[in-house]
Amino acid sequence: MERRDFLKKTGVAAAAVAGTAVSVPAVLAKEKTYRWKMVTTWPPGLPVLQIGAERFAKRLEEVTGGRIKIQVFAGGELVPPLGVFDAVSGGTVECGSGASYYWAGKVPAGQWFSSVPFGLNPQGINAWFYSGGGLKLWEEVYAPFNIIPRPQGNTGVQMGGWFRKEMKSIEDFRGLKMRIPGLGGKVVAKAGCAVTLLPAGEIFTSLERGVIDATEWVGPLHDLRMGFYKAAQYYYYPGWHEPGTCLEVIFNKKAYEELPKDLQAAIDAVAMETNLWSLCEFESGNGAALEELITKHNVNLVQFPDALLEDLRKLSEETLEEEAAKDPMSQKVHEAFKKFKKQIGGWGTVSERAYYDVIIDKYSLKKE
Ligand code: CA
Repeated sequence: MERRDFLKKTGVAAAAVAGTAVSVPAVLAKEKTYRWKMVTTWPPGLPVLQIGAERFAKRLEEVTGGRIKIQVFAGGELVPPLGVFDAVSGGTVECGSGASYYWAGKVPAGQWFSSVPFGLNPQGINAWFYSGGGLKLWEEVYAPFNIIPRPQGNTGVQMGGWFRKEMKSIEDFRGLKMRIPGLGGKVVAKAGCAVTLLPAGEIFTSLERGVIDATEWVGPLHDLRMGFYKAAQYYYYPGWHEPGTCLEVIFNKKAYEELPKDLQAAIDAVAMETNLWSLCEFESGNGAALEELITKHNVNLVQFPDALLEDLRKLSEETLEEEAAKDPMSQKVHEAFKKFKKQIGGWGTVSERAYYDVIIDKYSLKKE
């Protein structure tokens, strides 16, 4: 090793003297400290999400012995929250953190990599990314924008949302004013819902004043923090529209490719680790927060009626087909997603579902 390093160093010196252009050899790249900037779509201090982005940076610095240092900026600190994709694409910053459905207007096919109504749960979407070709396809979708994506987190199955009235059938969506983003928003719009997109800071006040009748947010951990239980009587489940939303960390292609191979590998490994960490934080945090909402705040926890969910499922299928038909890449991703969902569906029925059916009584949510 030492002899090879020596030869490389002397080779570089000779080339430099001769004025020949050389690429930075691995030995010099290993001595270099990379100082990067990351911008995120999240508010400062947002549990698991902004904290997850900061954890990613910290862990990467740890595992690389300080060879890569990333300064993390929350949404609005360096660029607007929804300016993250452009900032990374254009090379203003080296990396960013958010969710791919935020860029639906720019990259419609990207939506399938964050959340699909009645789509894959966290286990399923991770299986698709790492073992089913999903990540390769995601890379292909972002390639024209000079961006390399990695899954960086997962919210777990979200909640259906907070409603100021009971939801008995699909008809109850007609005329309802609801804050719900993404493909889920398109689905309820088909049912006659007036969909609004409010920034995080305006949702509670709008719900409390009746400007909107309903909102979805994330899960109990984040919903408790927002205080929605003070503004709406009914807390519905399940989050059919976001059954396992994947969060992303994205890299400017040039910046990523300039890194030595071992740092690229470190990035990939830490992203995967953060993905797992995030899901664990959501699972444990949601469990505790749900109990607090029920026991301390007497929240009326309600399951959507089966018939209402079935109607939403039909509308979702129509919506997905329509959205996919809008461009060839969306169609390609949609077909791949459907194929993988079908592939694991049968197994899920005899494993996860059958197991939950057996243990369901032990986790009954009925108030004592
Ligand atoms: Ca949500």
